[in-house]
Amino acid sequence: MQIAVASGKGGTGKTLLSTCLMKVLADYNPVLIDADVEEPNAGLVLKQQVLETTVVSRLVPEINPQTCNLCGKCAQICKFNALVVLIDKVLVFNELCHSCGACAYLCPQAAIKEKDHPIGVIEEAHLPGYGTLLTGRLTVGEAQSPPLIKATKNKKTEAGLRIIDCPPGTTCAMIEAIRDSDYCLLVTEPTPFGLHDLELSLEAVGLLDIPGGLIINRWQGEEQELAALSSRTGFPILARIPFSSKLAQSYMQGRDPLEAMPSLRNILTDIISQIKEALS
Ligand code: SF4
Ligand code: SF4
Repeated sequence: MQIAVASGKGGTGKTLLSTCLMKVLADYNPVLIDADVEEPNAGLVLKQQVLETTVVSRLVPEINPQTCNLCGKCAQICKFNALVVLIDKVLVFNELCHSCGACAYLCPQAAIKEKDHPIGVIEEAHLPGYGTLLTGRLTVGEAQSPPLIKATKNKKTEAGLRIIDCPPGTTCAMIEAIRDSDYCLLVTEPTPFGLHDLELSLEAVGLLDIPGGLIINRWQGEEQELAALSSRTGFPILARIPFSSKLAQSYMQGRDPLEAMPSLRNILTDIISQIKEALS
């Protein structure tokens, strides 16, 4: 089973939930995939010791100046303006290239071959008693995160259960992270920003036809608008995690949130039961 933990807005408590979920589900030998590759921090929370690092690359074009006749066809084909043909050479902008391969396929002179361009790494850590943590870490300056998210999700592990800590927002990165999940948990907070971004996320999850439910974090009793959104969209509210300054402080100090708020374990166990029921 694969459970995605997503949110529209950043800072709603996605990583806190993902890492605690991993601990609560330790009997299933889970793998937690940190797909927030631009700023992964599950490893900081879990105090990971990286065992293995794998470099991830994507293909970008390389022009052979001996055979290129500067016809300009490749630049016309490229929808992402990653190629510019000058009077004496072709410039390739790797950061704009989407690795579609069209230019290499259609070059009349067969002057383009594809070469590997490193975009980041996958770090693998084993957390005794909890399972495995796979962290995708995008190289600073790289713009294309979906290929790294895909590679991190595809890395082979012996896991009974997969939990994906997704990037915030509703861009291609979030879509790639939640894709193929059996269930999507959407963590939100009862604020206007939280509500606005949650609506966008629900739309994305709905388009991919993934069943899901809401978790209201930092709940302080106010939930009218979230409840209305839940009944309008059909995504149930699975849990309310009360606001707790003790939890926030202990999390910031790197301590175990399940110790700061012991009731969190029961809340998460109940969420799992609801997911199982929804999928049965
Ligand atoms: S299509 Fe091929 S031959 Fe034409 S400019 Fe591009 S690389 Fe050169
Ligand atoms: S591989 Fe695709 S995106 Fe990249 S330069 Fe070629 S045509 Fe453009």
